[in-house]
Amino acid sequence: MSNPLRRDEVARSLQAVRERIARATASAGRDPAEITLIVVTKFFPADDVRLLHDLGVRDFGENRHQEASVKYPPLRAEGRELCLHFIGQLQSNKAAAVAGYADVVQTVDRARLVSALARGAEHRGRPLDCLVQIDLDLPDPSASGRGGIPLEEAAALATQVAEHDQLRLRGVMAVAPLGADPEAAFRTLGGAARRIRADHPEADWVSAGMSGDLEAAIAQGATHVRVGTAILGSRPTVR
Ligand SMILES: *Cc1c(COP(=O)(O)O)cnc(C)c1O
Repeated sequence: MSNPLRRDEVARSLQAVRERIARATASAGRDPAEITLIVVTKFFPADDVRLLHDLGVRDFGENRHQEASVKYPPLRAEGRELCLHFIGQLQSNKAAAVAGYADVVQTVDRARLVSALARGAEHRGRPLDCLVQIDLDLPDPSASGRGGIPLEEAAALATQVAEHDQLRLRGVMAVAPLGADPEAAFRTLGGAARRIRADHPEADWVSAGMSGDLEAAIAQGATHVRVGTAILGSRPTVR
């Protein structure tokens, strides 16, 4: 069904990313089994998800509700076991719907989302895994816009998530700031993750690192990397 050329191309780049992860864990003295590779499939068709799934990928990331909500339910209906991570900025009025089909919401960055996600999880009858997204941008409002709660407020939001029976606090997530040293930003994230873990030992996921900076993230303790371009190629730049 899928194009064999596309399959070869994706298989090769997936292997290259797995090798990058192996090298990065080796130089950090970590075990590659500690790292979950999430392939970000936004803008790419369901057939690409199918061939990645056939190649053994089980964790996928999407950042737009409209796209994810039509792409993924049919894949599950085919009987494919997978874990879908929602990694985009989320409007409160879409949160309950996202909780209907996502397994993890990585972008919890304000209290209003917490209650909306809890309602959605209750409706679907299964707890929802959540990560608190932390804003690592320097305090420059013009530089931000990628979401995330300020570092100082992250622990309080984590506690709010943990207080809901329908939500499971799993850890933290961040995107490295543009034009800054990603490793320094990921070190800051690691510190925040440790502080949250002190109160919530089950919250041991650190989602950090993308195509360009996954090595820096792994060096600083990431457990989940979110990789799109390096595996599927470049996306259209217009949105
Ligand atoms: C698109 C996206 C990624 C993947 O980025 P690449 O540079 O293509 O690997 C990772 N995280 C988030 C939050 C994204 O929106």
